[in-house]
Amino acid sequence: MTVEPILVAGEWRRGRGDVYATRYPADDTVNAELAAANVDDVNEAIETADAARRRPEWAALKPHERAAVLYRISALIRERAEELAQLQRRDNGKPITETRALVASAAGTFQFFAAACETLEETLTPPRGDYLTMSVHEPLGVVAAITPWNSPIASEAQKLAPALAAGNGVVVKPAEVTPLLALELGRVCERAGVPRGVVSIIPGKGSVIGDAIVKHPLVKKVSFTGGTSTGRALAKLAAEKLMPVTLELGGKSPTIVCEDADLDHAVNGVLFGVFSSSGESCIAGSRLFVHESVRAPFLERLVAKASALRVGDPADVRTQMGPLITSKHRESIERYVQLGRDEGGRVLCGGERPQGGLYDRGWFYRPTVLDGLTNDARISREEIFGPVLVALSWRDEGDLLRQANDSAFGLAAGIWTRDYKRAWRIARALETGTVWINTYKQFSISTPFSGIKESGVGVEKGRLGILQYKHQKSLYWGLNDRPLGWAD
Ligand code: ADP
Repeated sequence: MTVEPILVAGEWRRGRGDVYATRYPADDTVNAELAAANVDDVNEAIETADAARRRPEWAALKPHERAAVLYRISALIRERAEELAQLQRRDNGKPITETRALVASAAGTFQFFAAACETLEETLTPPRGDYLTMSVHEPLGVVAAITPWNSPIASEAQKLAPALAAGNGVVVKPAEVTPLLALELGRVCERAGVPRGVVSIIPGKGSVIGDAIVKHPLVKKVSFTGGTSTGRALAKLAAEKLMPVTLELGGKSPTIVCEDADLDHAVNGVLFGVFSSSGESCIAGSRLFVHESVRAPFLERLVAKASALRVGDPADVRTQMGPLITSKHRESIERYVQLGRDEGGRVLCGGERPQGGLYDRGWFYRPTVLDGLTNDARISREEIFGPVLVALSWRDEGDLLRQANDSAFGLAAGIWTRDYKRAWRIARALETGTVWINTYKQFSISTPFSGIKESGVGVEKGRLGILQYKHQKSLYWGLNDRPLGWAD
């Protein structure tokens, strides 16, 4: 097998780090072999990106010209959509229906930030003297985008598009197990006319090259999506440089079912919220709070449907849950389920690997629902990042909000009710960045996304998401005909 090149400083070449294989989680066959970037590659990529982003080919582009490059990226992604979706399926084992949606969303993200780029307005502020005052925004310099393995192309687009729209150079460090989509995005950027060296794609282990990226003096911002402990370590390094960070971290999101909810909608929504992407999603609705008066019938319907979810071949359009990302990750989920049992939980469904055929070759796990636990149990508090739902209950709104907000995380929440006043009250009182009401896990690039508490820092997406990758500058234009009086 040939060793795939990576994109360092405008050149496709072998990384100078370790050679490793990436594998298809559904059957453990090798997808590609590539040589990771080492610290020398990192330094070269960053220094080249800084030089390249200062050259007129990138720095002097008018907003509509830079937007045209992003529109071309979007069009090229759409042209290659099926190929990219199949590649992402192999890269991380998600079902093909899901990877098609992720590729479409990546194209939409570039289109959206192209539009944001060419329509961004600067402000003339009210002056308080004989001058004109303006607030404008400048590129930050080189931005590092560090992304996880769960939704590669979408996460990468979500950082790369606004960072480029803002006129920066960008180094993308995809997760070591899922580098292939980021590398393809590198090719797309080149074809779309992003000048050589502005973007580097440097796969590698976070523990090996992560510090070098974050500490490099020319890196002016890190946008990171991943686990809370990695994000915290990275923020400490960033603090030394007083560098801004955007951190999109973990979650333990509550989904709340009220007694007046349409239970059919709620069952489907809760299942989708926690089991789509095999639960490998920061926004997974992994804590179910169902009102005690409807708890028994709700759980009965939920468990029946969860047991019938189609776990299997990601290439099959009927598959709802593919494998988990690695065998090691599956083991970590199994340890959590065991912990739940040890803490007194009852497994209502799942709690095991499916057996036979493809199941024996990949990292599959059945959708799992546990009850009999409280919100204090460790599996109610820690992010499992897998297909595991903890079913809890509540009595009144005060009790509900106390439990739902009693979490280290604050990423997302769902509410199922027919009562719009109640939905409003609960939504406003939940300590989370996003609340879905009578729906779950819906996303539009035009709506900002953020987490609070240990779920993150900063905002991504939305029309002003581009400003996350610029710094603000104020201009004062003197309009006096006479010299300033003070020096006379
Ligand atoms: P996940 O559980 O999604 O693997 P991680 O936080 O470990 O979460 O990984 C997210 C991304 O962060 C990956 O690209 C990973 O390689 C990278 N990463 C891991 N450790 C570090 C580090 N010390 N510094 C910078 N990036 C890191």
